[in-house]
Amino acid sequence: MKICIVGGGISGLSAALLVKNKAKKLGLPVAITLFEKENRLGGTIFTKTEKNFQIEAGPNGFLNSKPFTLDLFNIAGLQDLIIRSNDAARIRYIYRNGLLEKVPEGGVEFFKSGLISFKGKLRILGEFFIPAKRDNGDETIANFAKRRLGAEAKDYMIAPMVSGIFAGDISKLSLKSCFPVIYELEKKYGGLFKGLIKKKNKKSGPAGPKGILMSCKGGLFNGIIALKNKCDDVNFLMDEKILSINKGDHNFIIHSNKCQYVFDKVVLAVPAYDIASIVENLNKRLSELFFDIPYAPACVVGLGFKDADLVDNLNGFGFLIPPKENKKILGILFSSSIFPERAPKGYKLIRIIMGGDMGRWIVNKSREELIKIAYDEAMDILKFSGDPYITEFFMYEKAIPQYYIGHSEKVEEIENILNKSVGLYIGGNTLYGIGVNDCTHQSFNIADKIFS
Ligand SMILES: Cc1cc2nc3c(=O)[nH]c(=O)nc-3n(C[C@H](O)[C@H](O)[C@H](O)COP(=O)(O)OP(=O)(O)OC[C@H]3O[C@@H](n4cnc5c(N)ncnc54)[C@H](O)[C@@H]3O)c2cc1C
Repeated sequence: MKICIVGGGISGLSAALLVKNKAKKLGLPVAITLFEKENRLGGTIFTKTEKNFQIEAGPNGFLNSKPFTLDLFNIAGLQDLIIRSNDAARIRYIYRNGLLEKVPEGGVEFFKSGLISFKGKLRILGEFFIPAKRDNGDETIANFAKRRLGAEAKDYMIAPMVSGIFAGDISKLSLKSCFPVIYELEKKYGGLFKGLIKKKNKKSGPAGPKGILMSCKGGLFNGIIALKNKCDDVNFLMDEKILSINKGDHNFIIHSNKCQYVFDKVVLAVPAYDIASIVENLNKRLSELFFDIPYAPACVVGLGFKDADLVDNLNGFGFLIPPKENKKILGILFSSSIFPERAPKGYKLIRIIMGGDMGRWIVNKSREELIKIAYDEAMDILKFSGDPYITEFFMYEKAIPQYYIGHSEKVEEIENILNKSVGLYIGGNTLYGIGVNDCTHQSFNIADKIFS
């Protein structure tokens, strides 16, 4: 069986490894070719190493609350490469009125917290008594949060949390598609508190994601290289862009910018806008549906400082900024507090995140302008006493797919088309979740489906 995988990010790479692994288990011969249009693998995942700093361009890591990425590394025999974040990384902050307020981790901290007013806290507790929404229709995260937790929790807990994950606008994003577990909690148990009590889910803080953040020694990109080295039988064709797919009699004819190929199965592990153009000849409607998935931009400014030049000791995960605070940045990650090896001894590393669905202005600014804005905003809050020792900049004009209201209907229609298009599979973060774990989860599913 000849299998084509398009895209060499974590989705394509994990699909290659898992399909290969599954075929080996089943004793079936496969020939896998992976196409990557750039001259390096990893896609969004890249780690720049500079003066002994390891600066992540994209994801910081992945949570261990879902098993998929850890399982992937285990299957590849790479468990020794995995590192766990520092315990300090459990401490998260939200910026409000010039202060970094700790996100409460339990009941006592919640009552003492300055993040939400007394009235706002009472309203959150009142969630227990709010009746469940009667219909099953989709709802924005903003509506849901206001309805169940009140306006203050919506603005100062939910909005920054969502911007930390999706870089998105809660008045547009769909609860059902972005946070299906929360959507189900209300549907199944009648409310969040009721659901959490029933599920005895006491460990997760009210606003922080559950689980411990994991990464790879030397940075996530090291994980990409190591995974690639475990794909010994996979044919990697770099610098080769797939342009289109056409249906053959019992196979697919693939056109790249260099050549034409024939494959039995095709896995597309690329962003939605790339899928849209690749499948245009194959199925116009499928192309339209993917074209219709919007993306938010993001840029990351990494700044390394000497310990002596910092006022704050940067202990914790970092902080997020609610859109209501009208700052130009989305938040700052204390990268070397999360993973101490990201900065050399005597130095600290932070990553400033800007843009998002509500910060589209970043695409019209130069690198220099954005670095200056990031530095000024960070300085305003963290009060450095010296200049950065290193500065790195990474831009993603289309960083993260946005699952707006109506996304689930799109997904349903896409699934219906794919069910009829035998041999075509979609991986990646376009449909079912944007985290690294969601991407690797899709690859496990694809490896199962290909041989079912
Ligand atoms: C700034 C940022 C921070 C993030 N932080 C986190 C985090 O902390 N935790 C987390 O879990 N997730 C995070 N994410 C999300 C996560 O990084 C992504 O969902 C994930 O890396 C996507 O991987 P992918 O392989 O699906 O896609 P990509 O990484 O986009 O890879 C797709 C690959 O396909 C290639 N390609 C595209 N078109 C073609 C074509 N026609 N032919 C051949 N090749 C093609 C591209 O060059 C690319 O290499 C973050 C994302 C961003 C942008």
